[in-house]
Amino acid sequence: MRNYLKHYINGEWIESTGNEIEEVINPATEEVIGKISLGTNEDLDKAVQAARDAFPSFSQTSKEKRIELLKEIAAEYENRKEDIVETITDELGSPKSISENVHYMMGYNHFSQAAESLKNFSFIEDRGGHTVMKDTVGVSGLITPWNFPTNQTSTKIASAFAAGSPVILKPAEVTPFAAIILTEIFDKVGVPKGAFNLVNGSGSVIGDGISSHPGIDFVSFTGSGAVGKKVMQNASERIANVALELGGKSPLVVLEDADVEEAARAAVSHIATNSGQVCSAATRVLVPSSMKKSFEEAVQKVLPEYPVGNPREDNHIGPLVSQKQWDTVQSYIKKGQEEATLLVGGTGKPEGVEKGYYAKPTVFTDVDNDMVIAQEEIFGPVTCLITYDTVEEAIEIANDTKYGLAGYVFGEDEQTLVKVASALKAGRVKINDAKADFAAPFGGYKQSGIGREWGDYGIEEYLEIKTILGYPKK
Ligand code: NAD
Repeated sequence: MRNYLKHYINGEWIESTGNEIEEVINPATEEVIGKISLGTNEDLDKAVQAARDAFPSFSQTSKEKRIELLKEIAAEYENRKEDIVETITDELGSPKSISENVHYMMGYNHFSQAAESLKNFSFIEDRGGHTVMKDTVGVSGLITPWNFPTNQTSTKIASAFAAGSPVILKPAEVTPFAAIILTEIFDKVGVPKGAFNLVNGSGSVIGDGISSHPGIDFVSFTGSGAVGKKVMQNASERIANVALELGGKSPLVVLEDADVEEAARAAVSHIATNSGQVCSAATRVLVPSSMKKSFEEAVQKVLPEYPVGNPREDNHIGPLVSQKQWDTVQSYIKKGQEEATLLVGGTGKPEGVEKGYYAKPTVFTDVDNDMVIAQEEIFGPVTCLITYDTVEEAIEIANDTKYGLAGYVFGEDEQTLVKVASALKAGRVKINDAKADFAAPFGGYKQSGIGREWGDYGIEEYLEIKTILGYPKK
């Protein structure tokens, strides 16, 4: 049982001033695996004060010192690999291979990449006539969701540290334990007192408190659009900077000359990885009308490559994170059965499963882009097949969404691939099976958010631009 009833403030684990406790549940077993304290505004005030006290010296540390700190964090993170993998498997229900190859690796890559990006990062720029300086934004408040417990926390913290910004982190209360390990890592490597503070708690108290706190200069939020709007509203009261990483309904455009089976495998893997609880997952698959039948057959053929089941066994798809998430996904599957044609999957748990929040990987066909299942983020193992007749029509359908986080294009002809990639209104477009790149910026257009994370663009978020005229003297 993991019982972590303290917050980490000013370099120490301290008792919560409140007495509300939240139980954390393993979604595969539905058993309680630990508890956290839900912090109070008093706890948050203490953390903000600690960060403000740390600011003058932390923001003035040299670039070399910050690179060294980030490298030490990455090295200690590696030492905690087993704990991180076990913890994410328990709290999120992520299959062990995904916990290791995706969740653990993403956190590691963000710290290593930030150190690397910092090497060539310039905080001062002579622009011939004037100088631009990049100052640390101030104290940062970080609010993260449950679906990638080490990815979102690590990218924000690594960028903040690279920029010299002290932080207060509030991780999702559903999956809080990975952040406890990160805190232990920072404590072990000697992150300066007050530069990192962890306050666990609810969104309505600590999340809302962070976004409205006058002592917090910048808020970086990852989560739903509904909460993102509230964060922005609160921050607007004091004109504080915000970065928002929100939802998506990303298209995967399959071109005429694509390998059908490869494209179908990519489509299925998007809803299989992390049980489809991925903001950038492709959940609208655009297929040429002429390919519809063969694509449907290919989906049915490849689906068994992604078995659903116990994350501690050799399965690719684990449970959804909570009963609440399971209920939401079920209601969308019901809606899809009314609106479109069910190709595979459906409501209820997979055959033979009684315990755990498992859902059936579900694919709808004959989907029209106006349907609810094509417009709303489902955040589960559910996708939609939509047909098109021309590349222009595919682009129009792909962009016909309030979101713009990611896009995917599959095919052979480079000119067409680049034409579609360039036309998609999304922050990140992947062509075929391009490899992950942690130096590449990540973020969304439209209601998918504001700002960019990862690598040097991520560091920029934690900086203010200052112009100095008259220097260097001409
Ligand atoms: P959520 O918005 O419910 O919660 C996110 C965080 O905000 C949690 O820590 C929560 O406690 C906190 N919160 C809740 N109410 C708050 C309030 N009033 N003020 C401030 N904070 C508050 O989202 P979720 O269900 O945890 O995560 C799923 C959502 O996150 C999906 O919409 C998904 O697309 C999105 N997401 C986006 C990205 C991205 O990078 N764009 C990445 C992962 C997840």
